[in-house]
Amino acid sequence: MEKLPQPNLPEFAFIGRSNVGKSSLINMLTKKKGLAKISGTPGKTQTINHFLINNSWYIVDLPGYGFAKVSHTTREAWGKMISRYLQQRLSLMNVFVLVDIRLEPQKNDLDFINRLGELSIPFAIVFTKADKLIKSNIKQHVAAYNKTLSGFWEELPREFVTSADSSWGRDELLSYIEEIIKQYKPII
Ligand code: GDP
Repeated sequence: MEKLPQPNLPEFAFIGRSNVGKSSLINMLTKKKGLAKISGTPGKTQTINHFLINNSWYIVDLPGYGFAKVSHTTREAWGKMISRYLQQRLSLMNVFVLVDIRLEPQKNDLDFINRLGELSIPFAIVFTKADKLIKSNIKQHVAAYNKTLSGFWEELPREFVTSADSSWGRDELLSYIEEIIKQYKPII
């Protein structure tokens, strides 16, 4: 936490299982190909990376979870770091939880989402890789996901359907971020 930039600008965190397409999404949003590293080795990034956007807000790239090959100790250290960040970072405005649109709801995603809800940390769900499905299947997959979420929550979170390959969802996500930034009140 001490190594993070001063919490003097609104920030938006991106998180998800390794390989969900987080780096690709960040690069798509910023239109900078090499900004976040698209890694061939899932689970490699273990640090919190801040990307300053237009000198006015941060995209925060959080290390991914759900990579089977990391040790128990590494997973625990990850959990502690992320918990501290999510609960203590005063300038954090919203967490985007990335979910591969093709997959059935995964336990670790649901656990993470439910934990955010319990802690009252504002979040939205970003479905990734939508270009891999045909249109009618996109709707079906989102509906199935929501059915699962409805088992836990009365109200569904805000959701975005995106593709880094075709830039779907880019305008919607950026407009959403812009709206939230308007509510930011400087803390330092
Ligand atoms: P990360 O580990 O979550 O940062 O995931 P990456 O961004 O490195 O992406 C993992 C893999 O999924 C890479 O092979 C990407 O090329 C691929 N990928 C990511 N986003 C998309 C997308 O929107 N569409 C398609 N078709 N492939 C994607």
